[in-house]
Amino acid sequence: MNYVDKHKHNVTMQRKKLMVDDQIAHAQQERGVLILITGDGKGKTTSAFGTAFRALGHGMRVGIIQFIKGTQATGEVIYLAQQHPQLSYHAMSTGFTWDTQDWEKDKSAAEETWIQAKRMLSDPEIQLVVLDELTYMFTYEYLDITDVIQAIHQRAARQNVIITGRGAKPELIAVADTVSEIAAVKHAFQDGVKAQAGVDF
Ligand code: ATP
Ligand code: MG
Repeated sequence: MNYVDKHKHNVTMQRKKLMVDDQIAHAQQERGVLILITGDGKGKTTSAFGTAFRALGHGMRVGIIQFIKGTQATGEVIYLAQQHPQLSYHAMSTGFTWDTQDWEKDKSAAEETWIQAKRMLSDPEIQLVVLDELTYMFTYEYLDITDVIQAIHQRAARQNVIITGRGAKPELIAVADTVSEIAAVKHAFQDGVKAQAGVDF
């Protein structure tokens, strides 16, 4: 970089800093947020668990509920369950019968799991609640979106919540404070690469 470029760069950076300082000065609210990670690309669940690691690192209590069909625990769950007494974990897996297409059975499994989620949402000691793959519960009409949104509204003021899953309904997008949509630009699976431990589960 020559002198002129360096000078230009410094001026740009200074302007940027002023802008960021101004934005920081404006962000003075202290409250819990609802984060929604949606979209067809890879990275939703791992993002939510990354945030759980952050919270645990600060000594916070974390609750994780997985609205999943599988019974095989992913690496992050195995690791967290072993390492952290600060974590409360619950998975729907038992009794979830996507394979048998039994809607009634799936619905009651979802409802039972939702009771656990509601318990976490009403516990102010839990600073972060992750509701992994929750969006599908509305896609398949296992849970009522209005009930869920109401419970999220009524949670402790400083509690943060992360919801993941594809195809988030507009109602959920509307009530979330932070929404990220991960686009599926490409995925190795489409290229014939087998799902692997440590990366995909
Ligand atoms: P991850 O758990 O890796 O963060 P995710 O939560 O965004 O992924 P899910 O839809 O829950 O995605 O699916 C989880 C599994 O499916 C992972 O094994 C992931 O690698 C794989 N997967 C995610 N997105 C895609 C995609 N677009 N095409 C193929 N496989 C995918
Ligand atoms: Mg996921």
